[in-house]
Amino acid sequence: METPTKVRSHYDVIVIGGGPAGSASAMLLAERGLSVLLLEKDQFPRYHVGESLTGTAGDFIARAGLTEKMAELDFPAKPGVKVVGREGAEFFVPVLRPTWQVRRADFDHLLLQLAISKGVEHVQGAAKTVLTEAGRVVGITVATANREDGDAQAVRAAFVVDASGQSVFMSRQELAGPRRVAAFNRQIALYSQFSGVASDVGETHNSTVIFYRDTYHWSWLIPVSSEIVSIGIVLPTASYKLRGGTSKAAMAWGLEHMHPELTQRTASATQVEAMHVSRNYSYRVDPFVGPGWLCVGDSHCFTDPIFSFGASFALTEAQAAADAIVAAIANPAAEPDLLAGYATYCNRGQGRAADLIRYFWKFPAFFAYMTKGQHGGDLIRLLAGDCFTPEPLAATIEMKKSLEDSPVLHRIPEGRGRDIAARIYERFDFFQGVDAAFLDLSEGVMIYFILAEDDIDLYDSLRDFEEQLVSDFGRDTLAVLSFTPDIIEAMPPLDNAYTIVDRRRK
Ligand SMILES: Cc1cc2nc3c(=O)[nH]c(=O)nc-3n(C[C@H](O)[C@H](O)[C@H](O)COP(=O)(O)OP(=O)(O)OC[C@H]3O[C@@H](n4cnc5c(N)ncnc54)[C@H](O)[C@@H]3O)c2cc1C
Repeated sequence: METPTKVRSHYDVIVIGGGPAGSASAMLLAERGLSVLLLEKDQFPRYHVGESLTGTAGDFIARAGLTEKMAELDFPAKPGVKVVGREGAEFFVPVLRPTWQVRRADFDHLLLQLAISKGVEHVQGAAKTVLTEAGRVVGITVATANREDGDAQAVRAAFVVDASGQSVFMSRQELAGPRRVAAFNRQIALYSQFSGVASDVGETHNSTVIFYRDTYHWSWLIPVSSEIVSIGIVLPTASYKLRGGTSKAAMAWGLEHMHPELTQRTASATQVEAMHVSRNYSYRVDPFVGPGWLCVGDSHCFTDPIFSFGASFALTEAQAAADAIVAAIANPAAEPDLLAGYATYCNRGQGRAADLIRYFWKFPAFFAYMTKGQHGGDLIRLLAGDCFTPEPLAATIEMKKSLEDSPVLHRIPEGRGRDIAARIYERFDFFQGVDAAFLDLSEGVMIYFILAEDDIDLYDSLRDFEEQLVSDFGRDTLAVLSFTPDIIEAMPPLDNAYTIVDRRRK
């Protein structure tokens, strides 16, 4: 690793975090003649999740002149994404432009080294606090390992970029808005790298493979070198305990049950990296720009890893951030408009991606169909990471309409209650500790649960379940109510309710 330089007292720009968002922002700013300090708390190379890139990241890599390096580092060229559903349903989405699967330890190190080669001053150290004057950010305090007095040092800058990823530094400093959980929260992902995984053959060789089992039950398989494959198992937090309650047990459950192809391809696999866990990772921070600062990448938004947008979005946003900062430093009076424009740009891209993901979870079969239909071109573009384009995309408009229409529960009053009860049952059949459940449509949509026990985790699961139903069916009037055997007499009479399940009779 490069010997970190000493921190000076002033820079044009300070960038916090050396992931893709930070290194890309820093290098683009240095290329435009600004003095840039890049602070990274960890020693690189270091493991990081996020190994599958989209076409937009491929564009960045080509522009940065790194194409040859990608082959030298044995990063597989990625032909596309294969989604394999239950009962053999399968579709393949090709990448639009050349791109790669990467080991983030090496990829992030490569980007950091490139930034340093462009004149960025990299220091291993952590941003501690923000310095403000008259409501404007004017610098930060920094703790570096090589300071003998151990005190944080004040460093000033015309502009500060938060690229601290899931640490959401500016949000924690209460400059950016609070970290609010988003619709895809309460999932848990377990992941590691393996050797000895059987590879795909033919046009899908080296593709990302997504094995889809049920809503929020899925896994990924990403070849990250000619020998090593990244595997992740994703579950709703509510069902993690039922799948063993430890990362090892849940990974073993996933490899065995997620999909027969995954089981078969990993039959002789050996784990070669530690097991890593991410939970509750779906969030947004708003506002994420302000006088003298802005956030890039995960430091303001992360939605859901299913379509591998994270690192690519970080690189795309870094380019827009660098443009806004260069222009704001040249013309301080224009800063508010430039930052507002940057925020709109990011919100458009992140919003389109969130709609795409919501649509996939809600209508997986239609999603597959759409990739082949009249909106196929748009969908392939979106999956290539082109979510930030200013022109409207017909596929996005169509998907938004379907999401807002929420047809399923709207049909209940016409006598589809029994169907809906069956669908609801499918959704919670993995809960343990539910004795009975009823669907009552006399006033709004009420789902009553009789619980076998007073278990806090079960209440958490029911809350998740309620959120899921509200978002799936688009009905705010929907309520999930639960009763334990000791307070069952408090339950209203459910004379016209549909029985979803009643295990007490058995
Ligand atoms: C389960 C899961 C699977 C994913 N799969 C994919 C995928 O396949 N493809 C994909 O593109 N993305 C994926 N992602 C998302 C991807 O990991 C992120 O979106 C991406 O890394 C964001 O880049 P970033 O630069 O914003 O943040 P990061 O890459 O997290 O970088 C932030 C850096 O800031 C440093 N830092 C934090 N605080 C400080 C501080 N105070 N001072 C100094 N340094 C600091 C950290 O050490 C870190 O190196 C996945 C995410 C999850 C949770």
